[in-house]
Amino acid sequence: MLDYLVRNACLPGENTLVDLGVADGNITQIAQSIHGDAPSFDACGQLISPGFVESHIHLDKACILDRAKNETGTLQGAISAVANAKSGFTEDDIYARAARVIEKAITEGTNAVRTHVEIDPGIGLAGFKAIKRLKADYAWAMDVEICVFPQEGLFNYPGTEELLREALDNGADLLGGCPYMDTDPNGQILRLFEMAREYDVDLDFHLDFDLDASWRHLDEVAKQSIAFGWQGRVMIGHVTKLSVLPKPELDDTIAIMRDAGIGLTVLPATDLFLTGRDHDHSVPCGVAPAHKLADHGVCCTIATNNVLNPFTPYGDCSLSRMANLYANVSQLSTEAELENCFAMVSDAPAKLLGRSSKIAVGQAASFIVLPAQSRAQVVSEISRPVWGMKDGRVTFEHPVAKLFRPA
Ligand SMILES: [Zn+2]
Repeated sequence: MLDYLVRNACLPGENTLVDLGVADGNITQIAQSIHGDAPSFDACGQLISPGFVESHIHLDKACILDRAKNETGTLQGAISAVANAKSGFTEDDIYARAARVIEKAITEGTNAVRTHVEIDPGIGLAGFKAIKRLKADYAWAMDVEICVFPQEGLFNYPGTEELLREALDNGADLLGGCPYMDTDPNGQILRLFEMAREYDVDLDFHLDFDLDASWRHLDEVAKQSIAFGWQGRVMIGHVTKLSVLPKPELDDTIAIMRDAGIGLTVLPATDLFLTGRDHDHSVPCGVAPAHKLADHGVCCTIATNNVLNPFTPYGDCSLSRMANLYANVSQLSTEAELENCFAMVSDAPAKLLGRSSKIAVGQAASFIVLPAQSRAQVVSEISRPVWGMKDGRVTFEHPVAKLFRPA
């Protein structure tokens, strides 16, 4: 007995259309024609794909442009604007703003996110509690992984470590870091690795977020990743310094990251908005060349980071748009290049979050239908999903656009 049928779906890389049978939340059949009278959705030949996976987003500080302005347009301007606004955050306020973002993300076809949540003695655990509540309330459409981190420093903000520990004891999934904000960056890196080992959690750093190639924290993170045996469990985000490295230095850095099992997340909207502010012409883009690292086996993802706040005053939570933005800035155009951009918002972040990225019998019935015939086309045309399901239950649908021609 089937609970649901998806008809005439195009599987990536396949020429013939298939029907998918769903029962008890899983895909139980894939065949050219499945008979049955279960409720159904006709994909009409459009592409079926597991949902997008958002590997780096800040739900707790989203949608605050009404109360926080980045006066300088710089990273420091964004950090201080949010730090000031944060004193007015309450758990309910954070929940409401985060829910608005999650609902946007659901209708853009994302069904899993890793969200970074700020923890410090000022905000306490308000953000963590709000996001934990949201995680439970939206589990019907979105799997949420909570990464707690010290945005305003660890050693320079006494009390932060105790609160991070409290969050980890109460359901936080992993630990983030922000060494460039700390009076002792290497100290922060070491302490976070020690805590990661103690709690057996992965690490996800905000790192090397400027264009000065004369110094960086990447090597220290790589060193500790090997020392702690944490290869494959460490991500670094932004790393805009990589965008200014000539090929030989970039090749050396790729080798370092591969040996240390460190992955890279690029946040194109934020990186483009905040970097290069000291240039009045020939402004550098500041977007790390993730596709070059991915070509050498480094786990690379493209993510949203911020929505409507002083770090990024834009945002629709569309990962097909973010993949397109990355492709555009990085001057990518071939089928293979665009396909790789799609992989950086689907397969790679899915692997990072320990999820399947396959449409196959026995897998959870969690997928979206995209108005395209290939993954590359989704990136080139910024295809918006028309319909989605999670664990066998329909979660959203967009009406098909109609044209009203003159008679
Ligand atoms: Zn971030």
